[in-house]
Order: sequence, then C-alpha cells, then structure tokens
Amino acid sequence: MPELPEVEVTRRSFADRIAGARVQAVRVGKPLRWPLGCEPQALVGRTVRTVRRRGKYLLLDLDRGVLLLHLGMSGSLRFDGAMPPEGLHDHFDLVTTHGVLRLNDPRRFGAVVFCDAEDAPEAVKLLGGLGVEPLGDAFDVAAFHAALKKRTAPIKQVLLAGDVVVGVGNIYASEALFLAGIRPTLPASRISRPRAARLHAAIRDVLARAVDKGGSTLRDFSNAHGESGYFQLEAMVYDRAGEPCRACGSPIRVIRQGQRATYYCQVCQKF
Ligand SMILES: [Zn+2]
Repeated sequence: MPELPEVEVTRRSFADRIAGARVQAVRVGKPLRWPLGCEPQALVGRTVRTVRRRGKYLLLDLDRGVLLLHLGMSGSLRFDGAMPPEGLHDHFDLVTTHGVLRLNDPRRFGAVVFCDAEDAPEAVKLLGGLGVEPLGDAFDVAAFHAALKKRTAPIKQVLLAGDVVVGVGNIYASEALFLAGIRPTLPASRISRPRAARLHAAIRDVLARAVDKGGSTLRDFSNAHGESGYFQLEAMVYDRAGEPCRACGSPIRVIRQGQRATYYCQVCQKF
C-alpha cells in the first residue's frame, strides 16, 4: 500500500512538470472508490497550477477547483508525454498540454474527486479529519504529547488512526516505535514528555529518510508502473518476525493489533 513517503515522492515526480498545463481531455475507466463529482468534460480547458499533498491525498489545484487524488491500496500515478494505450487497470487519464497523468489501480480503492474548493463539503469530508503533517512545522512535541495524553488506546493504533498525526502507516509506525524504544501496546496516555519527544523525532526521521530514499530513485519511480515504484527502508523490525534484532540480537516478535501486524523487539521496547 502506498504510504506517505510514496505519495510525496509521487508528487515530486510530476508536480513541476504538470504546473501550468491545460487540460485537453479526461478519460475515465472503471468506477473507483468515489465518483469524480463532475462531468469529465467540465475539466477540459482548466489549468493545473500546483500539486500539493495532504496526508496521502494529492491536491491538484486548478484555476477553478481542485482535484483530489488518492492511491488507495494499489494505485500508482505516472506522468509522461507519450503514453501507451490504456491497459486493463488504467482507470483515469488527465490529458494535458504537458503530458498525460494516468492512474493505474488494479484494486480500485483509489479515487479522483473534483471539488469546487478545498473547503467545499466534499473536500472537508475527505480532508477534515486529518491530523497534522508529520514533516511540517505544525507537528511539535508539546502538542503531540498533549494529544497522546488524551488517548488510552495503544500507541501504535493511535498513530495509525491518523487524527493526531497523519500518514504514519503500518511500516513507519512499527519502525518509529522501535527507534523510540516504545512498546507498541503501551497506552498512548502513559507516554512521558521525553519519550513523546523521542517518538516525535523518530517519526520525522523514518518518514524523511523514506522520502529521501524514494527521491534518489525518482527517475525510475516516475517511469515505472505499480510495485516497481515502491521502496522501503532497510527495516529494523517491520516484516522481520523471528529474525534477530539489529540492535540486541533477540528475535523480533509479531502481534496483531486491530487486524494489522505489529513488529517489535521485546528487549529494546520493554514498555
Ligand atoms: Zn532489540
């Protein structure tokens, strides 16, 4: 599943190139998770100004309105001047004067939604509940610790919920908790200020490194389809059940939390 770093790297792969492009045609394939919200024809003639990211949404600012894109479980975007004919899993093409932006999404949990503005009800429904951006200035230790104090759920699940801080998915939550030395099952409210500060730094660190790593492979990424575009850090705990901890050598454990696998070291993450 594309997580925040993949979405950010996707954004960087085409944001500059599509800026200023005028929409010439829109091709819509099979239904995605949500309807487009306008007639495809209504987008023709509009200009793409900028591409921003909010959580795992990409926001294409048009001269009138905004297109929200989500990659869902299996989506990938490609932007190219010359595009082959649509394949079986290509469900949305935005044909512009600078190239074609194409969404490939085999499982069709992704979406492209047009809204008149970012504060229109349809946009607020999707973006309104999102927590602060983990890589932005608004994510500070004091506010993070205060938000955790109010939550009694296990810290891993509070991170995944996305309303305290957005875009920390399963891989990065496990990795950040390892780096901070925090047991994933610990109630969020019991995390002290110094430990919240360590977790805050760890979240920024794992996400920033993943974005950097993706950025360094941007060339391949933007030209590739689907899974070849995904990248991962050398994981400390994620997907390493039974393998020795890279810090202390004891076997990495896996448990289920809210249907998701959680990996941790019982020595390095005692409580
Ligand atoms: Zn360990």
